[in-house]
Amino acid sequence: MMIDLHTHTVFSDGELIPFELVRRAEASGYSALAITDHMDASNIDLIIPRIAKAVEMLKPFVSIDVLPGAEITHAPPALIPELVKEARRLGAKIVIVHGETIVEPVTKGTNRAAIEAGADILSHPGLITIEDLLLAKEKNVLLEITSRKGHSLANGYVAKEAVRFGAPLCINTDSHSPSDLITREAARRILLAAGVEENRIESIFDNAKSLIDKVLRRN
Ligand SMILES: [Zn+2]
Ligand SMILES: [Zn+2]
Repeated sequence: MMIDLHTHTVFSDGELIPFELVRRAEASGYSALAITDHMDASNIDLIIPRIAKAVEMLKPFVSIDVLPGAEITHAPPALIPELVKEARRLGAKIVIVHGETIVEPVTKGTNRAAIEAGADILSHPGLITIEDLLLAKEKNVLLEITSRKGHSLANGYVAKEAVRFGAPLCINTDSHSPSDLITREAARRILLAAGVEENRIESIFDNAKSLIDKVLRRN
């Protein structure tokens, strides 16, 4: 079953409210979903409690694990540690930092700041340096392979270097619309297309599973 730790709702630039996103993920055969809207200093304290409330109320009625999260987006690197901390304090279980994708002018140094701040996942890290990759390995920050158009242009590079240096990968959809949700089989094919060998694929899904276990234990 699909585990997807990076999705958006109307609380940032996604199309669905949390209940509908969760229902659609459940109906698409997901086993776990994190809701990780775009955040900066302006909205972090507005959004996380709303999502956490929706998740809490839904819990008894859905068959999948749903985690409130955050994607800290286009923050100056110097502010990232503080925002990661604040996101956790406000109830985000999965904290993502929007990495240095090659299709947006993300400030240089964002990847490094995210890893040093102990984010759970660095999304679409683009042409991440080997130094940062090694640091991600050391700190067990998951590097994202994505099904999202544009960001996915760097999937091949991220997969190749992560495998070469043993940094942990995950795969997420970065869904903004219902049609962005994918099956586990589609995720498997995206990993193969990124150059990941068949025998490594299970371990990539396991990285997401372990992160969820760790996060649920943190409670
Ligand atoms: Zn977005
Ligand atoms: Zn995103």
